[in-house]
Amino acid sequence: MAEFDVDLFVIGGGSGGVRAARIAANYGAKVMVAEEYRMGGTCVIRGCVPKKLFVIGSHVHQEIEDAAGFGWSIGQVSFDWATLVANKDKEIARLEGAYTTNVEKSGARIVKTRAVLEDAHTIRLATGEKVTAKYILIATGGAPNHGPAVPGIEHVISSNEAFHLKELPKRIVIQGGGYIALEFAGIFAGFGSDVTVVYRGDNILRGFDEDVRKHVRTEMEKRGITIITGCTVAKVDKHGKDYTTHLSSGSSIASDQVMFAIGRHPNVRGLGLEAAAVAINPANGGIQVDGWSKTSVDNIYAVGDVTHRTNLTPVAIREGHAFADTVFGKRPVQVDHATIPTAVFSQPEVGTVGLTEEEARAQYSHVDIYKTDFRPIKATMSGRDTRVLMKLVVDGSSDRVLGCHIVGDAAAEITQAVAIAVKMKATKADFDATVALHPTASEELVTMRTPTARHVRQAAE
Ligand code: FAD
Ligand code: NDP
Repeated sequence: MAEFDVDLFVIGGGSGGVRAARIAANYGAKVMVAEEYRMGGTCVIRGCVPKKLFVIGSHVHQEIEDAAGFGWSIGQVSFDWATLVANKDKEIARLEGAYTTNVEKSGARIVKTRAVLEDAHTIRLATGEKVTAKYILIATGGAPNHGPAVPGIEHVISSNEAFHLKELPKRIVIQGGGYIALEFAGIFAGFGSDVTVVYRGDNILRGFDEDVRKHVRTEMEKRGITIITGCTVAKVDKHGKDYTTHLSSGSSIASDQVMFAIGRHPNVRGLGLEAAAVAINPANGGIQVDGWSKTSVDNIYAVGDVTHRTNLTPVAIREGHAFADTVFGKRPVQVDHATIPTAVFSQPEVGTVGLTEEEARAQYSHVDIYKTDFRPIKATMSGRDTRVLMKLVVDGSSDRVLGCHIVGDAAAEITQAVAIAVKMKATKADFDATVALHPTASEELVTMRTPTARHVRQAAE
């Protein structure tokens, strides 16, 4: 009789867990995956995918406005929130089905229940059943932070609920200045809501390049989004269907919805980590792992948002794949977490890869900046007051391109391609040797010849 019921038990059927389960099963392992909610996880069910569908839908508003300059006269237009939500739900259900089928096709077995650790080799299902496993992978993802318990916090929604609102709010207050706050600000504004973003710091998108932060804010404000900085939500009152959001500054805002997008925390509570002696990383509250995604217990691994490293879907997928290759494929692989491209699907979009100017100047003695900010060709006829930002951060000593930052239409698509060059350590000379593709916005990346700034740090005396 086998020593364990399964070779691998995966807790969590999201991006990381699904990839790991499928690859391990392909290597011949006997695999079981537990999912307590819906197969596909955050990205598919209430993250990247429905968010992107909403972004695409809300952007149509701008297309309609821009059409007049090109000769189109579009009659009365109307938008139906319920249709959008229903069609989105249909697509998400289809994807959930595809994820389920693909896992099952690989030979792994799905159990639709919550699973927790009983000890280092035993998993307890909510059904009461116990399963023993040689290896366990924790891929339980994360969940929205509710923040400090301000009075009225029970009236506040997170991104989870934003995907299922019965009605489009006419007015919404969104607290936060990161990915989710800005993406939903653009979504709701595009569909016609009056949006106010409340952010505690001096400018949104902390950690992004300073020029990007300024540019996005200006462009979002041009599109009618109010951005209030330097304060927080202190209290939310509800009167009938309306809310009053009281800010720490003393002012207040009336709205139909209040949303917080103030970060996410790893799903570690109630998982039985103590029983199995799996350690938490005190620095970030996620499960502590080494470069192989191995926890403090030899046969237990953790990947994705639950480790709170880089909380992005492609990263969770890579970590899950690398785990399966290493443990079941006899192909040791470590994930390289350096130079990961990322995009904020705000409107306009942000695409970024590599170092910001501030990071480069802290790490390199010679930093050259190539920056341009221009009116895109479409705006010349649409009449829209908008500008695109493109910026390259270059090591002045080696000529290597250290970072690329774009704000404007298709920034994410452009950044994915530029990220290959940056990852390959391309030099500015390599960019310059590439013939422009005309007429595009991204041709600016290969035609900026003169640095807009040169930063040289004097050697310490
Ligand atoms: P998850 O996908 O969260 O999967 C974890 C799964 O485990 C869940 O299905 C959960 O139900 C299940 N689970 C938890 N505990 C248990 C248990 N005890 N037993 C059984 N099942 C359990 N990333 C991008 O790269 N691009 C984007 O555009 C993007 N947009 C996003 C938009 C939003 C609104 C949000 C919230 C996130 C977005 N992300 C985006 C982040 C991305 O969704 C996550 O990084 C990714 O889903 C992490 O994958 P994971 O496998 O670690 O966890
Ligand atoms: P982010 O970390 O991006 O942003 C959180 C924001 O909330 C920051 O502006 C932060 O301010 C602010 N904040 C944090 N705590 C408080 C508080 N107590 N009171 C008031 N404000 C607070 O988190 P999100 O929730 O937007 O998204 C979570 C993660 O999901 C992202 O970091 C990303 O990894 C992933 N994601 C990726 C997307 C993509 O790839 N396009 C899209 C959506 C999510 P401060 O900066 O001052 O700390």
